[in-house]
Amino acid sequence: MKNISKKILFTTLALGLVMVSCNKEENLTTEESQITGVSAKASLKTLPNSGLNPNRITFKQKGLSTKDFSIGSSLINAVDPSECGDTPFRGVLAKYDDLLFNSFLSVYDGNIDGYFLVFYDYFAINQITAYFGFKNADYFGANGEYTQYMKQSTRSLENFWDMHDLVQVRGQHTATLEDPDLLRFIYENFSDASEAEINYLLGLAAQYNAASDQIPENPFFASDGFASFDGKIVIGDGLVSMLAEVGIDPKVVWSSILAHEWGHQVQFLNYGVFAYPIPPFIDTPESTRMTELEADFFTGYYLTHKRGATYNWKRVEGFLQAFFEIGDCYFGSNGHHGTPIQRMASAEMGYELAKSAQKNGKILSQQAVHDAFINAFDEIINGSSGPNIQ
Ligand SMILES: [Zn+2]
Repeated sequence: MKNISKKILFTTLALGLVMVSCNKEENLTTEESQITGVSAKASLKTLPNSGLNPNRITFKQKGLSTKDFSIGSSLINAVDPSECGDTPFRGVLAKYDDLLFNSFLSVYDGNIDGYFLVFYDYFAINQITAYFGFKNADYFGANGEYTQYMKQSTRSLENFWDMHDLVQVRGQHTATLEDPDLLRFIYENFSDASEAEINYLLGLAAQYNAASDQIPENPFFASDGFASFDGKIVIGDGLVSMLAEVGIDPKVVWSSILAHEWGHQVQFLNYGVFAYPIPPFIDTPESTRMTELEADFFTGYYLTHKRGATYNWKRVEGFLQAFFEIGDCYFGSNGHHGTPIQRMASAEMGYELAKSAQKNGKILSQQAVHDAFINAFDEIINGSSGPNIQ
C-alpha cells in the first residue's frame, strides 16, 4: 500500500492524445478545452498492479493542428507577466472539478484501473469520437437545442471568410460515454487492449457510470474545443455550458467559440503566407499567445461586422466578457492564451476594425485583417486601453 497524490490537468490529458508523437510541422491543433486549465487533486490510497497499460489508448492525428488552451510548462520561454487574475469562470471550473473528484472518490474502491478509465480513457474516447465524428457529432447542446443555431453560424462564417466546404464543425456530449458499444469500438480501434481487457473495462465503465451522478455527466467530459489543420472544429457542450454559467447568453458563447476556432482555420489556410513577428505554432508561450490573440481578434471582427454576425452592443458586451473570462495567467505555459485583459482587448480591437468599415460594409481580405492584427499586436499586449466593461 502506498499513498500518492495526483494533480491533474484535465485538458493536458485530453490534449496529449492529439499530440502523440507527431511531427510539429505536420501537427497543428488548437485545443480550446485547455481553456479550463483546471487542476484537480485526488488522493488515491492504493495502487494495485493490474498489469493494464494506463496509456492504452493512442491516437495519432495527421496534419497540422494548434493547441488553443494548453497548459504545458516551459518556464524558460515564459512571456513577461502582466496584470492578471482569476476570473469568475475559473470559479465555475473549480466547482465542477470538485464535484467530479469528490464523486469519484466517494465511489472509488482502490482499483487504479477505474481511475485511469475515468480520468484518461473517458477524455480520450470523447475526443476521438468527436474528432472523427463517430457518434453524436452532428448535433449541438445535450438535446440538440443549438444545432440549428450552429448550422446557421457555420454558414455565416463560410460566407464571411469565403471558406465554403473547408471546415467541419462537430459536437461533443457527455452522453456519448454512456454507450458501451461506442466505448468498445474505440478500445478496439485505438488501443492495444485485448478482448478480455475490453470487457473488463466496459464492466468498470458500467460500474462507475451507475454509481456516480458525475460520471460521465460532469461537463468536463465534453469540454473539448479545438481546431485541426485538416479542417475540423470540435466544440463540447460542457465547455459552452460552463462558460455560460458566468452569466453570458449561451448563444453568444457558442458563436464566440466557433468564431475563434474558425479564426484558427483562417490561420491554417494561410499557414506559410501570413507573416508574424514570432514564428506561429511553435508551442511556446509567446507563439501561442500571439496566434490565440489573433483568433480573438478575428472573432471580434466577424461577430460585429454587419455582414458577419451583426452583434448589437449587448451581445458585444457578452462576447467581450467571454474572452475576458477565458484569459489565463499561465505566463510560463506553452498553452498561454493571453491574460483576461489582453484577450478582451484583442477581441475589442477586432470589433473596432469592423466598426471602422461599417460605412461601406466591405469585408476585408483575410490578409488585411491579419495585417490589422499585427499592427495592433503591441498595443494588445502592452496597452492599457482595454475596454471598460466588467
Ligand atoms: Zn484558440
